[in-house]
Amino acid sequence: MRVLILGGTGEARELAQLASGERGVEIVSSLAGRVRDPLLPVGAVRIGGFGGVEGLREWLAANAIDAVLDATHPFAGTMSAHAAAAAAELGLPLLHVRRPGWTAQSGDRWIRVADLAAAAALPELGARVFLTIGRQGVAAFAGSSDRWFLIRAIDPPTGAVPANHELLLARGPFTVEQETALLVGHRIDMVVTKDSGGSPTEAKLSAARAAGLPVVLVDRPPLPPGSPVMASALDAWEWLRRRMIE
Ligand code: NAP
Repeated sequence: MRVLILGGTGEARELAQLASGERGVEIVSSLAGRVRDPLLPVGAVRIGGFGGVEGLREWLAANAIDAVLDATHPFAGTMSAHAAAAAAELGLPLLHVRRPGWTAQSGDRWIRVADLAAAAALPELGARVFLTIGRQGVAAFAGSSDRWFLIRAIDPPTGAVPANHELLLARGPFTVEQETALLVGHRIDMVVTKDSGGSPTEAKLSAARAAGLPVVLVDRPPLPPGSPVMASALDAWEWLRRRMIE
C-alpha cells in the first residue's frame, strides 16, 4: 500500500514514524516548502506544491498512491480542500488528521473571530500586540499603524507588515515561563493567535491567562465534508491499518 501523508505538522511526522518499519506500507510525506529549514519526517519526502487539484490528481496517479492522509495544519484549508477534491476524483480513501482546538479555561479572556481580517478589524483592545499567527497572515495587520506588534514567526514574513513592529524569529515549543517573560518584557497587553490546538504551542495561552490579557483567537477554516476525521496520529494509523486488512 502506497500512502501520501500531507504534512507540515507534528502529527504528520509521528505518522511517518509509525509507518516506518511496517511491512507492506510505503509512505511519502509531502511538505509545502514554506519553511527554510523544515523539521523532516523519517522516510521519503517530497517538497513543494503539486499545482492545484489537477497537479495533485496527476501526482497521485503517477505515484500509484492508494490512500491519502491529510495531516496538514488545521489552517492549511486550501491543501485540505485540494486533497478532498483529488481523492474524490480518483476514488481514493482520504483521512483528515485534525488535533482538537483549544478549550477556554476559567480566567481566559478570549475573543473568538472567524478569520484574520476580523481579528485585524477588532476595535482597540490593546496597544502592544503579541502577534503569533505564523508569517503568512501578518499582512492582514499591515494597515494597523496605531498599534505596536511583536511578530513571532519561524521565518520572516514576505508580505506587508505593520509599520510599528519588532520581529522575533523563533520556533516552539515554548514554556509558560518563556512566554510570560516575553509578555512582560515587551509590555504586551493583547495576544492574537490562531486556534491551532495542541500542547506544543499552548503555553502562550497559559501565560496570557495568568497575566489577565485578552487573547483574540482566530477560528479554523472548516474541513471539506465527506471524509473521516481523526484527532491524533495514532488514531489515523489505526484507521490505515484497518484499511490494509480489509
Ligand atoms: P494552504 O494555504 O492550505 O496551501 C496553499 C498551497 O500550498 C496548496 O494549494 C499547495 O500548493 C501547497 N501546499 C500546502 N501544504 C502542502 C503540502 N503538505 N505538500 C505540498 N504542497 C502543499 O497551506 P498553508 O497554510 O500555506 O500551509 C503550508 C504548509 O505549512 C502545510 O503543509 C501546513 O501543514 C504547514 N503549516 C501551516 C501552518 C498554518 O498556520 N497555515 C502552520 C504550521 C504548519 P499546490 O496548490 O501547488 O499543490
